[in-house]
Amino acid sequence: TPHISYFPVKCNYSTKVEYKPIRSVLVANRGEIAVRVFRACTELGIKSVAVYSKEDRSHIHRLKADESYLVGEGLPPVQAYLNIPEIIKICKDNGIDAVHPGYGFLSERADFAQAVIDAGIRFIGPSPKVVHQMGDKVAAREAAIAAGVPIVPGTDGPVTTKEEAKDFCIKHGLPVIFKAAYGGGGRGMRVVRKMEEVEENFQRASSEALSAFGNGAMFIEKFIERPRHIEVQLMGDKAGNVVHLYERDCSVQRRHQKVVEIAPAPHLDLKIRQQMTDLAVKLAKHVGYENAGTVEFLCDEKGNFYFIEVNARLQVEHTVTEEITGIDLVQTQIRVAEGMTLPEMGISQDRIRPDGFAIQCRVTTEDPAKNFQPDTGRIEVFRSGEGMGIRLDGASAFAGAIISPYYDSLLVKVIAHSNDLQSSCAKMNRALREFRVRGVKTNIPFLLNVLENQKFLNGAVDTYFIDENPQLFH
Ligand code: ADP
Repeated sequence: TPHISYFPVKCNYSTKVEYKPIRSVLVANRGEIAVRVFRACTELGIKSVAVYSKEDRSHIHRLKADESYLVGEGLPPVQAYLNIPEIIKICKDNGIDAVHPGYGFLSERADFAQAVIDAGIRFIGPSPKVVHQMGDKVAAREAAIAAGVPIVPGTDGPVTTKEEAKDFCIKHGLPVIFKAAYGGGGRGMRVVRKMEEVEENFQRASSEALSAFGNGAMFIEKFIERPRHIEVQLMGDKAGNVVHLYERDCSVQRRHQKVVEIAPAPHLDLKIRQQMTDLAVKLAKHVGYENAGTVEFLCDEKGNFYFIEVNARLQVEHTVTEEITGIDLVQTQIRVAEGMTLPEMGISQDRIRPDGFAIQCRVTTEDPAKNFQPDTGRIEVFRSGEGMGIRLDGASAFAGAIISPYYDSLLVKVIAHSNDLQSSCAKMNRALREFRVRGVKTNIPFLLNVLENQKFLNGAVDTYFIDENPQLFH
């Protein structure tokens, strides 16, 4: 792997992109991803700034930043981090140059990106127009079609009546998947396999979506049987250069939510990889994509693959891509926002070579013995797995940390990197066994069951894996 320098000796700008250094970054987020961005800032000599809710006043992410500001006082815990006017005001009052949204919270809100830019602050991510386009399922699918990317057959827009739902199913056949048009994070989905169940299931899914997301509109797609979830990491700059950083396999999911992620995808046919990565880059160029992003695909057993969505932000599993490519995605994001081009950073497609296999396990404070119910309280004892090839990205993973019920239950991301899948899994297994966490329950016993499953170790499991193997829960 070539050494990629983020500090070019001489910036000789061939393009018309203006380079304006960023001196301070506010992270409109919390927890491990806030800390991840602060670390990148510190290494680049940039001041890091945190916001924190009242509930998070003693949370470690606040202390890991150079400066921190209370946000959303009087608001519920999650709402505090969604308070756009106050976040903008903090930036302006304190002369902050740029905002990083992390993942979740405001990260896919075009109105936030726009408000940041309107206030004269840099947004570390794609343009508001692209954030909006990618977040709108219909517009994103249209862009994919225009770029020649195969998509899952689906409704042209949100569907609100059971009659429309039935029509789609008659026309395209079963099975189908209902997805809440305004849902996300794997929630609000339902698979239907029998024609006589279409209408009733639609009504139920729609009313669930209404109470969970405030809108009962649904999308209907053909359900792809036994798919693998494979996604391509992209990075674009302001000059229009786009590279891919190969793919990740995120097929190990529980309730459509990712649990274990691997880069690159094991046993992926090289021709299919080439097509997927080419098409992902084409899509990005077509929409004028800038900064980090991910194109998600589902692949069926026959080797067909279908676009499902673009995530216009950094993802939880970006770490495994960093491990195999040696490229710091967050630092690259910041440099791109400053106006540095990819070639100026020494990043070009032919220099990006995946090295070995990296695997990430999401260690959560959930109890597998109680149907993954989140656990809370004080961590009394904490010892982590460490050693060669192990990386930990966390925030509240230490003795004395209080795990509150207010936020996501991700405790620490454990990443193992080695020459091949088997040795990466062996490292992960060994590292997870070294963990001692007392005071709160974690999903480590479940993760270890996954890592000892022969089918998993052979690579290439599909999204049915966890559901079909209930013994993993014990
Ligand atoms: P979200 O945005 O809520 O995360 P996605 O559209 O990314 O939802 O889908 C999450 C997961 O749901 C996928 O990785 C896959 O396992 C499953 N899924 C989504 N759409 C389909 C489909 N058409 N066929 C089969 N599985 C699907």
